[in-house]
Amino acid sequence: MADESIYSEMKKNGLSRRGFLQFCGLVAGAIGLSNLPPLQSSGLPAHLARKDATQSMVARALQTKPRLPVIWLELQDCAGCSEALTRSQSPTLVDLVLNKITVEYHETLSAAAGFQAEEAKQAAMQKYAGQYVLVVEGSISPKDDGVYCTVGGRSSLDLLQEAAAGAAAVIATGNCAAFGGLPRANPNPTGAVSVAELVKDKPVVNIPGCPAIPEVFTGILAQFLVFGSLPELDNLHRPKTFYGTTVHDRCLRRPFYEAGKFANSFDDEGARQGWCLYKLGCKGPTTYNSCATLKWAGGLSFPIQSGHPCLGCSEPGFWDGGGFYQGQSAPLARPALTTVGAAAAAGAVLAAGMGAANQAQKKSAGRSEKKEQG
Ligand code: SF4
Repeated sequence: MADESIYSEMKKNGLSRRGFLQFCGLVAGAIGLSNLPPLQSSGLPAHLARKDATQSMVARALQTKPRLPVIWLELQDCAGCSEALTRSQSPTLVDLVLNKITVEYHETLSAAAGFQAEEAKQAAMQKYAGQYVLVVEGSISPKDDGVYCTVGGRSSLDLLQEAAAGAAAVIATGNCAAFGGLPRANPNPTGAVSVAELVKDKPVVNIPGCPAIPEVFTGILAQFLVFGSLPELDNLHRPKTFYGTTVHDRCLRRPFYEAGKFANSFDDEGARQGWCLYKLGCKGPTTYNSCATLKWAGGLSFPIQSGHPCLGCSEPGFWDGGGFYQGQSAPLARPALTTVGAAAAAGAVLAAGMGAANQAQKKSAGRSEKKEQG
């Protein structure tokens, strides 16, 4: 039930006050709260403005606000963003999305199927009209009366327009929903388009990536839940906190790039030494995303760290951007230095928050393990 507060629901499930406050700390980390107003402009010393104030702000919101209803459409997609979210190594954050926020309808995750699922969606859209967050995964195919993607006999365009009409905000997750993705690759046989090209009267947040980073998605939802607002966006509707710097700006191989040390093949000495992958086609210099700071699998690694060049999967039209492994294929157009500086600061705060959150989770998991063994 979305009418209950998140805290009362957690209490019913046996969560202690201490556990609740720990959870609030995680949510604050996911939002990258210490970078947001009014804390930023509070004038408090940094050590006071960050921890307790942000945590209590989240705690207040979770105790008073009802759970957030979410309707999730899957259109022309591979369900990779849903997969990434459910397989994320940040169980508390996934729990936030799947349990603390009410996912009223999700074609892959809903227990109901067929007519029953469609009826549940209609009921949720009526009950929470103007309040729910619509998440869209996949592109929309209006060509040829929408015959290339239908759910329950209705076209993707029809389904999007209906669900967007009653939404408070729309999140387009993954490259397909944000920019058209693989379905839009030349020659774009289904006429695939993005959500933002069709929804003009509602705020649309793009979180591109193939798939989108689960912690980014969670951070946006958590902010909406706590503040009722969306983060500041760039000209491609991407949250600046997560997409303000390029992968190259934060890459651990960057010193080798600066020193002119490049791997020339995947099995040469340079590759073994962890040198820069630019000549193997790395698109890090022109790709805006948080992969190098948030990483994947609970902060364990990301493609470049594991020896694979960045494919640029969070940029528009990346499938048609030339060979993935074509040497020096990423043009080195750089944003203005002031933008990089501001975004770098935001990214550092965010990475620190998420890092602390992951550490806290690992510690608490370790403690429970010991208890069970003892
Ligand atoms: S080109 Fe790629 S591998 Fe090299 S430093 Fe930049 S992002 Fe890292």
